[in-house]
Amino acid sequence: VKELIENSLDAGATQIDVQISEGGLARIVVIDDGQGMAADDAVLCFSRYATSKLKTAADLHKINSFGFRGEALASIASIAKVRLLTRQKHSELGRLVVLEAGKIVLVEDAGCPVGTRIEIENLFYNVPARLKFIKSPRSEALAVENVMRMASLAKTHVGFSLTSDDKLRFEVRQAPLDAPLGHERCLERAIASLGEASRYYLYPFAAKTDLLEISGYVTAPLVTRRDMRGIRLYVNQRPVEDKQLVQAVRVAYRSLLEVGRNPICALNIVINPELVDVNVHPRKSEVRFSDASRVQSHIIRLLSDFLAGTPWVKAFAPSVRVAIADIPNESKLSFYDAPLNKPATNLAPAMYTAAVSSNLTRETKVISYPSLDGHLRYAELKIVGQVDATFLLLEGSKSMIVLDQHAAHERVVFQRLKDELQRQEIKSQRMLFPLQIALSKEQALALEEHGNKFAKYGFEVDLFGETECLVKSIPADFRAQSAAEVILDVLDDLSNHQRVDSLDEMSDHICAQIACHSSIRAGQTLQMEEIKALLEELDKIEYGAHCPHGRPVMRAIPFGEMAKWFHRS
Ligand code: ADP
Ligand code: MG
Repeated sequence: VKELIENSLDAGATQIDVQISEGGLARIVVIDDGQGMAADDAVLCFSRYATSKLKTAADLHKINSFGFRGEALASIASIAKVRLLTRQKHSELGRLVVLEAGKIVLVEDAGCPVGTRIEIENLFYNVPARLKFIKSPRSEALAVENVMRMASLAKTHVGFSLTSDDKLRFEVRQAPLDAPLGHERCLERAIASLGEASRYYLYPFAAKTDLLEISGYVTAPLVTRRDMRGIRLYVNQRPVEDKQLVQAVRVAYRSLLEVGRNPICALNIVINPELVDVNVHPRKSEVRFSDASRVQSHIIRLLSDFLAGTPWVKAFAPSVRVAIADIPNESKLSFYDAPLNKPATNLAPAMYTAAVSSNLTRETKVISYPSLDGHLRYAELKIVGQVDATFLLLEGSKSMIVLDQHAAHERVVFQRLKDELQRQEIKSQRMLFPLQIALSKEQALALEEHGNKFAKYGFEVDLFGETECLVKSIPADFRAQSAAEVILDVLDDLSNHQRVDSLDEMSDHICAQIACHSSIRAGQTLQMEEIKALLEELDKIEYGAHCPHGRPVMRAIPFGEMAKWFHRS
């Protein structure tokens, strides 16, 4: 089915309908409205290595079609009964070709619509041994459905339907050619492909460098999967399973996800076809880049920049209040709401609308508006209260927001430490009495090798004898009781990482450890003023939505989802 759909797409189809029976084993029908085949080609296409997609040898280096090897129809015809019906626009009659076990048994003219209809029956009837390797019809049907979902996301201007044992299983309607990612029908596909769980958490994303362009959808880090199957990648619209690309996506999400969880996203990477070899895998699902590590680093950069802006937080933010004043009379202020979804571009229209709707003919000026280039303004959300002395409840415009106070504070401290670290400004306080800590052999070794790294973070730690250390200074604001714990944790990590990936990761780690031990705890009752202060701090930092260990800081429950709990439509 994958091969047949790809042929239909290569033929420029705008509608592809698939019917299967018994998971495709009994029957597969693929109908398209593509360009069809000339009478001769309808026979020729079943010869091995017959392809219309390469005109010259040089075409092999810049493949733009899905197919190019001319093997699919020949292979399919050799293990099933095939009936092909095809017509081109300018021919009056179409052609019918029937094959059994690879042999042509009938060729004749036939009336049919423009496009191609191919029917395959009794798959593997002449190679029963192969049937043993087929999973159940149900799982085959599911595999077909997945292939269609993947294909449909790459080609949004093509309509798709799948009927399995006479039941409609999947249907998406054509979106206009070049419809924006946010187009309702494109979103519909994204949700169909990424799963219903992504519905409220999907963010269109497009960015480019001089090497490549990425576009597609990312989801907020609170919808994740244990396996990596939620990471759906395409290269020049071809679905690929490429470890290096998957790795790049995981790296970009690194500080946002808990260990062992993987993001959900669908991304298409557009790159000069001459820089990609698609002919490295029989299913063409793997690709090879001429400069894979450069591709990887460009993807990481684009994606992490986008994630750093925490779009999921912005989407839940209330609209921005724009204050507009009449110039001659500044005391007369009018306030207007501008949606925050696309901050930079929305401010101007919001001002314009505001000015027009309030009949301000004189010159107006914006007196104040919240920072629009950055982050959610947590401080602007209504504080509902604290529950279980652990969670803060806030009200957004479209959702209720639950913050984990410890995780939130941890993120604040972490980010502050990182900034201070960058500016080499971490302040240290001297202990009145040095702390003496017992170390394991491994920990002592790690301290010997990496001990100098501690100073940067405001710790003064010296090896004392062979299996002890003395802590003479700790970072300012740090709780002395936690010092031993942090130092031991970091030493453990240092000795377990045979290979410290990068100093950056290492310092993230140390900052995270420190942040964890100097933050507000769960179970600590907070005064209103403390909550407000925390929210304001959160507003000042990047990545405000996750704690440095990747646990979420906040979770937004859309009112729409709440309405469902109570069966309100
Ligand atoms: P490939 O796709 O690698 O060229 P296939 O065996 O899949 O090889 O198809 C052989 C040829 O048959 C294609 O190159 C194309 O010319 C023609 N063909 C197959 N399916 C269709 C279709 N649905 N519409 C038009 N032409 C098709
Ligand atoms: Mg093909």
